Amino acid sequence: MSQDSRYKQLSPRSGFETLSVYDGVVGACSIDLSDNTNLWGMPPSAKKALEDFSYSDVTRYPSAYTTELKESLSRYVGVDRSMVVTGCGSDDILDSAIRAFGNAGATLACSDPTFSMIPVLSRINGLMVKTVSFDRDGDISVDALLSAGADIIYICSPNNPTGSPASLDRIETVADELKGLVVVDQAYAEYSATSLTQVLTRHSNVLITRTMSKAFGMAGLRVGYAIGSSELVNEVEKSRGPYKVGALGSAAAIAAVENDLSWIEKVVEETLSVRSRFVTSVGSLGYKPLPSDANFVLIPMDNACDVAETMLRAGIGVRSFRNLTGIGNALRVTMAPWLMLEEFLGVLEAAVS
Ligand SMILES: *Cc1c(COP(=O)(O)O)cnc(C)c1O
Repeated sequence: MSQDSRYKQLSPRSGFETLSVYDGVVGACSIDLSDNTNLWGMPPSAKKALEDFSYSDVTRYPSAYTTELKESLSRYVGVDRSMVVTGCGSDDILDSAIRAFGNAGATLACSDPTFSMIPVLSRINGLMVKTVSFDRDGDISVDALLSAGADIIYICSPNNPTGSPASLDRIETVADELKGLVVVDQAYAEYSATSLTQVLTRHSNVLITRTMSKAFGMAGLRVGYAIGSSELVNEVEKSRGPYKVGALGSAAAIAAVENDLSWIEKVVEETLSVRSRFVTSVGSLGYKPLPSDANFVLIPMDNACDVAETMLRAGIGVRSFRNLTGIGNALRVTMAPWLMLEEFLGVLEAAVS
């Protein structure tokens, strides 16, 4: 039998025929404003931890569940270390949490538009996705989310790609009313004006996911974490499995959390100041960017796809979206040192005139 015909006898999980590999990656560019990573670089102590890493240690497995990293993160966030789980990026934790608390055939509800990985991770695990609209004020709609009859509710705050935060009291109402798991994705927590960790003191069905990929500047090392009640976190760890965070990523993340918080604070401050300048400049070109609580700005724009192509030819990567619910076509731009944003604005101005 040839290799080819033998493959035809295999069948992947049902539903896999509707999935494809991730293609959100923008082509080669010299200024990449497409994925909301930290264009100010990586924190200095984290960098030093990589340089000082003892390479003879790589013959050994790392800590199965990152004991030391969880210790550092628990102090940083201000919770008991039994309430922390880490993963290979927060995508890994989202995947593990959906698998741990959603049976095949269960339903996950989320607002639309939101993080594009959520429908994918749901379907990989055999869950169905129900999307609902945001409220007219841009906040999540509690009624719409609850009436979806879902087993898991996903809330992204600040939301990717809109940048809008969900309010604490609405998240608490959702957590009060839902018997199942509520996931609050705070990948952009460091930029946000609203802290949500206090939700955990009253709700043991909430998991807050966070990451080292955005403000902490380490997307390439793949380190994410989440906090929730210790019982909940334990189930997520079972689902995730051991050894998901490599020794290098762990060492860099520990160093950053222990020594670089003031560096992060400065970068966040700079990001927010650049963001307000950027919003004003884009506005003066006639656009109405959405108010953002994160390190990116979404600009509704009929010809967003054409503009993204023009940008790419000029060496600038931005993410374009087609037909976002309630918004239409739009460009999402990562905030960066002003000189980079000036390049973007120059090309945009030429495209407008
Ligand atoms: C970038 C991002 C993530 C983070 O992914 P990692 O796997 O931690 O790199 C998670 N959620 C949202 C909404 C994001 O934008």
